[in-house]
Amino acid sequence: MIFFLKISMKKTLNRLMCLNFLSISPEGKLYDCDFNQALGLSIDHPKDVFALRKLGLEVLEGGTIKIGDHCYGCTALFGTGCFGALT
Ligand code: SF4
Repeated sequence: MIFFLKISMKKTLNRLMCLNFLSISPEGKLYDCDFNQALGLSIDHPKDVFALRKLGLEVLEGGTIKIGDHCYGCTALFGTGCFGALT
């Protein structure tokens, strides 16, 4: 059972929205995912899509993703996402 859980979480973690997408508010603020946008957890740098345009997407590489208890919905067992189950 533990082996099964490790496999499931590894597959889920590789497919998290926050690793591959940006969420942008109508005002141009940047978020790691839709869930973070709903909670108001914006990316600190760059501060908005206009700054990102000037700096380039490379500025996001290696950045810290804001996480919280809401992340268990994505990472526990099979995970969930905007499009349903991740795995
Ligand atoms: S809720 Fe957390 S784990 Fe899920 S995509 Fe957003 S930051 Fe990533």
